[in-house]
Amino acid sequence: MDFFNYKENELYAEDMSVAKLAEEFGTPLYIYSKATLERHMKAFFDALSGHEHLICYAVKANSNLAILNLMAKMGSGFDVVSEGELRRVIAAGGDPKKVIFSGVGKTRSEIAFALEQDILCLNIESESEVDVISEVAGSLGKVAKVALRVNPNVDAKTHPSISTGLKNNKFGIAFDRAFEVYKKIASDKNLKVSGIDCHIGSQMTSGAPILEATDRILDLYNRLTDEGICIDHIDIGGGLGVTYSDETPPSPYEYISAVTAKLAHTNVAIYVEPGRAMVANAGILVTQVLYKKFTENKNFAIVDAGMNDLIRPALYNSWMNIIEVHKRRDDVKTYDVVGPVCESDDFLGHDRKLCIEEGELLAVRGAGAYGASMSSNYNSRPLIKEVLIAGDKAHVIRERQSIEQMWMNEKMI
Ligand SMILES: *Cc1c(COP(=O)(O)O)cnc(C)c1O
Repeated sequence: MDFFNYKENELYAEDMSVAKLAEEFGTPLYIYSKATLERHMKAFFDALSGHEHLICYAVKANSNLAILNLMAKMGSGFDVVSEGELRRVIAAGGDPKKVIFSGVGKTRSEIAFALEQDILCLNIESESEVDVISEVAGSLGKVAKVALRVNPNVDAKTHPSISTGLKNNKFGIAFDRAFEVYKKIASDKNLKVSGIDCHIGSQMTSGAPILEATDRILDLYNRLTDEGICIDHIDIGGGLGVTYSDETPPSPYEYISAVTAKLAHTNVAIYVEPGRAMVANAGILVTQVLYKKFTENKNFAIVDAGMNDLIRPALYNSWMNIIEVHKRRDDVKTYDVVGPVCESDDFLGHDRKLCIEEGELLAVRGAGAYGASMSSNYNSRPLIKEVLIAGDKAHVIRERQSIEQMWMNEKMI
C-alpha cells in the first residue's frame, strides 16, 4: 500500500496534486511520500518486535540525505557498501554504531575510515579481505567486529542480474569454507567474530529461499557455537520484493516472522537489510510527454525522462507501471514510452495502453528504489529534482543539478 492515489481522476501524492507539483517544480521529477516510508519502516519494526533486532536500511536503494535522516529518526541502522555511503549516513545524522559495511571490494582506506567511525560490523566477502581488515585494524590499534557474508548457494529465484547467493556469483564466501575462515578470524587478535551474514538476492517474491538460507546459517551457527565461537547476530540480508505489476511478495511481517520463528531458540539478534521493500513504492517518477510519434509498427510516447534518470527498465528489462497523471480513457493507444537519450534501449516501458496527449504527464510507479540513486549524467543531462511530500507539504530534498555542476571538475589541457 502507498499514498499515490487518484482523486477524481487526478493523481495525488498524499494530499498534493501531482500535476500541480510538476507545474511548480518542473519535470522530470522524483516525488516521494513520507507516510509510505513510515508505513514500511513500521511494518519491519512490527515484524521484528519480540526479538532482539536491528534494521539496517540498504542505503544504495535510495541514498538521499532526507530519506536517510527520516530512517535514522525512526530508529533504523544502515547497510552501506562504500565510504561515500557511510559518509552520507553520518551527514544525515545516522549513528555509525548502527552501520554495517558490505561489499566485495572495500579498499584499505574505506576499511580504515569505517573502523575510525567505530561502525557496528564489517561484512567480509572474501578470505583475502580477512587479512586486509586484520592488518588495517592492527595498524589503527583497533579490534574490528566482523561477520562473514556466506554464500549459501541458494537460488533466490529472481532476475539473474540481482541474484547474489549462488556459488557462481561474486558475492560472499563459499558456504563450505566458512567454518574454517571463522576459526581463522577467532584466532586473530585484531578481529572479533560478531555475526553471520547472507544476502541472496533482490526482488524475491517468495519467502522460501530465505528460509532455506536460514537453515544453512543455523547449521553453521550450531557448528560455530560447538567450537566455542560466539555469534551475537544473524543477518538475513535484504531482498524482499515489491509489487511492480502482479507479483505477490509476502508482507514484511510474513517474511520476517517465518525467519524469527526459526531463530527463536537462539539468543542472537536478527539483523535485516531491506532496501527496495522500504522505498520502492514510496516514490514515483513524473515525466512529461514531449512528442507522440506514430510509425508503421509502433506508437512512441517520447518523454522527458530517460534511462539516465531511471535505468531499471534498460538495465534489467524491469517492468514498471506507467500511469497517466490525469486519467482518461477516451483515446487509448498502445505506446512504447521512450526517453530522449540516444540509445535504442532508452525506454521506460514497452506496449503500454495509455490515453495521453503531448504536454501531458505520466508517472512511473515503484521508482523510489534504484531510481535516483542509479541515475547518471549520460547525454549531459543534469540529475533531476527530488521532492518529499508530507501531507500537504512539499519539501525539495534535492535541487536539480545545474549544467555547470556537471562539468565542474573537468579541466581543459
Ligand atoms: C543491495 C543490498 C541489499 C538490499 O537489497 P534489496 O533487494 O533492495 O532489499 C541488502 N544487503 C546487501 C549486502 C545489498 O548489497
